[in-house]
Amino acid sequence: MKIAIVGTGYVGLVTGTCFAEIGVNVTCVDTDNNKIESLKKGIIPIYENGLEEMVLRNMKAKRLKFTTSLESCLNDVEVIFSAVGTPPDEDGSADLSYVLEVARTIGRNMNQYKLVVTKSTVPVGTARKVRAVIQEELDKRGLNIAFDVASNPEFLKEGNAISDFMSPDRVVVGVESERAEKLMSKLYKPFLLNNFRVIFMDIPSAEMTKYAANSMLATRISFMNDIANLCELVGADVNMVRSGIGSDTRIGRKFLYPGIGYGGSCFPKDVKALIKTAEQNGYTMRVLSAVEEVNELQKGVLFDKLMKQFNGNIEGKNIALWGLAFKPETDDMREAPSLVLIDKLLKAGCHVRVYDPASMEECKRRIGDIVYYACDMYDAVLDADALMLVTEWKEFRLPSWAVIKKTMAQQIVLDGRNIYDKKEMEELGFIYSCIGK
Ligand code: NAD
Repeated sequence: MKIAIVGTGYVGLVTGTCFAEIGVNVTCVDTDNNKIESLKKGIIPIYENGLEEMVLRNMKAKRLKFTTSLESCLNDVEVIFSAVGTPPDEDGSADLSYVLEVARTIGRNMNQYKLVVTKSTVPVGTARKVRAVIQEELDKRGLNIAFDVASNPEFLKEGNAISDFMSPDRVVVGVESERAEKLMSKLYKPFLLNNFRVIFMDIPSAEMTKYAANSMLATRISFMNDIANLCELVGADVNMVRSGIGSDTRIGRKFLYPGIGYGGSCFPKDVKALIKTAEQNGYTMRVLSAVEEVNELQKGVLFDKLMKQFNGNIEGKNIALWGLAFKPETDDMREAPSLVLIDKLLKAGCHVRVYDPASMEECKRRIGDIVYYACDMYDAVLDADALMLVTEWKEFRLPSWAVIKKTMAQQIVLDGRNIYDKKEMEELGFIYSCIGK
């Protein structure tokens, strides 16, 4: 089978590479010329574990190609996946301009049947708009060519993307024709050996499923952050509460970790977009509005702890940050809580020293040289008045505290992800504070 993936970002590149891995001929398309030129040379533009070798292997086998021109490969393929970005518009709704631009290019250039699958996260009703745009372009050309649209929202997690794509909990596919269902079944059949389910449904339900899933996950995070903040006030330990409630199978153990707020390219924008969709339909998502409000407050929690530690006098202090990415195992800093924290620290007159195993370049690209970029985690804490743990990368789990204690100016550790043990840290001579106890 031959397919095209339009949009070669976190989702598109992983999707294309994984389909190539099971034997499909894939052309990945992106309008970003630099990205495509790098990929053609085997340089991977994102950090994702295991992706580089898989891309190189499939390029060598000639199953994976890259181009900036959708027109050039469109009539060689039967199925086109659209995985372009859907960033938030100024009012919070999803910006569909890239998705509709792809539809327009398809309508202007297709010469025979196509199945156009939207993988991007898009609001209910987008497939209908994609269909209308393609039809409009065909009408302009005076052509009557059959085509189908489908919705196949992606649930992969950055940092575990390949394994999530290869063995997902489920694949959701929204279709409205038998032909589209057959094509999608054929494409996903090789993955079924990994024992997951493809759930076919109508298109609006598939589009809605993605938003409902991300909103539910964001809700769990904000709920636990709220509980954690209350735990601090009443003298309870949120870690204990978490294991207490997580052992109830109706609740489950996952996604119950308090921290310094969710970030990333998905939760913030998808929660916003769902609130907006409701608004446009005369309904108010009360729970989700609270989820957002709690999250915004939570991004300031570590900074408030620092202020408390220094009685509000933090001007001129050296503050070390471990972790910049919105979560471990990725270089993605979109909506990362670290950015909010850095901004607050700089505004308060602190000197900020940062280290992240994967996001240093991305951070430089975003904020430039207004912070000190440390060579490693130990360089970051040199002369630091406080260390803030922002992203729970594995390499931060068991540092040499004896070395750190000597190099820090003041032994204060503020743990935004609850990865260290309070008692142990205090025994080692640190002033330690975490979230929710
Ligand atoms: P991304 O920004 O990493 O990649 C999008 C790519 O699309 C960019 O490389 C951009 O240059 C390209 N593009 C834009 N317009 C184009 C066009 N007309 N033709 C060809 N290429 C074009 O975005 P992403 O993180 O991969 O997300 C893509 C979609 O998938 C979004 O809707 C997102 O919500 C959704 N999603 C993301 C994740 C994730 O973890 N990142 C997970 C699930 C779903």
